[in-house]
Amino acid sequence: MALLEIKNLSFQVDTTKILDDFSLSVEAGEVHALLGTNGTGKSTLAYLIAGCEGYRPTSGTILFAGKAIQTSKIHERAQLGITMAWQEPVRFEGISVAQYLTLKQRDLDPAPYLAMVGLEPGRYLARMVDRSLSGGERKRIELASILALHPRLAIFDEPDSGIDMLSIQDIINVIAACKEHGSAVLLITHREEIALIADQASQICRGKVVCSGTPAEVAAYYKSRQCSGCATEVCVD
Ligand code: ADP
Ligand code: MG
Ligand code: MG
Repeated sequence: MALLEIKNLSFQVDTTKILDDFSLSVEAGEVHALLGTNGTGKSTLAYLIAGCEGYRPTSGTILFAGKAIQTSKIHERAQLGITMAWQEPVRFEGISVAQYLTLKQRDLDPAPYLAMVGLEPGRYLARMVDRSLSGGERKRIELASILALHPRLAIFDEPDSGIDMLSIQDIINVIAACKEHGSAVLLITHREEIALIADQASQICRGKVVCSGTPAEVAAYYKSRQCSGCATEVCVD
């Protein structure tokens, strides 16, 4: 049984179909890259899986460890082990980095998780998670918090979008650490060099999967601009 199984998922806003009969499976411990250009429905899919407010499918099912979750609340899905890295790093006023990393498990030693994202624990644990941190530092701390959660499924929505904040190698290291912990990863990106670190990959176009296979196969298809989902349109940014 797959850890995450999305079956015939559609999501429509007014008359616009954003996801259209979308199906995808992610096995436990697998890194699955989802490639697609801007506006193809990647973030919408992430919000539907995480259970964000206002994101309930028009039709179809989302099974997590065999349980239908498409109508569950966001915190229920979080309790099942689904977590998401947002495109914009979060900011919490009034708590320290150490407190932030141990919100779920008070007795956890947060230091190794900071080290994994390239931050020296001694310099950051007592800092507040606020404006005094740079965007890149907040992004790293957020990634450390995901590692510290040991989720069953981590969804990364374009971790490369703030590429001025993190290098591609930083992102690869975090994904590798997640996988080492046994987490499955849904890695949303529009850069084929990032997709190549995955175990499996799929390309989404206009809310549908148009290609699935090894990351190399899907990256080649993506680069070829021959996407069957949009026929003559150029399906690469
Ligand atoms: P991606 O993450 O792949 O860039 P999104 O999932 O953010 O794409 O958006 C997919 C498409 O759906 C876009 O055309 C976007 O404008 C549209 N869209 C997303 N959310 C809404 C909404 N709440 N209402 C109307 N259109 C939306
Ligand atoms: Mg986008
Ligand atoms: Mg997006």
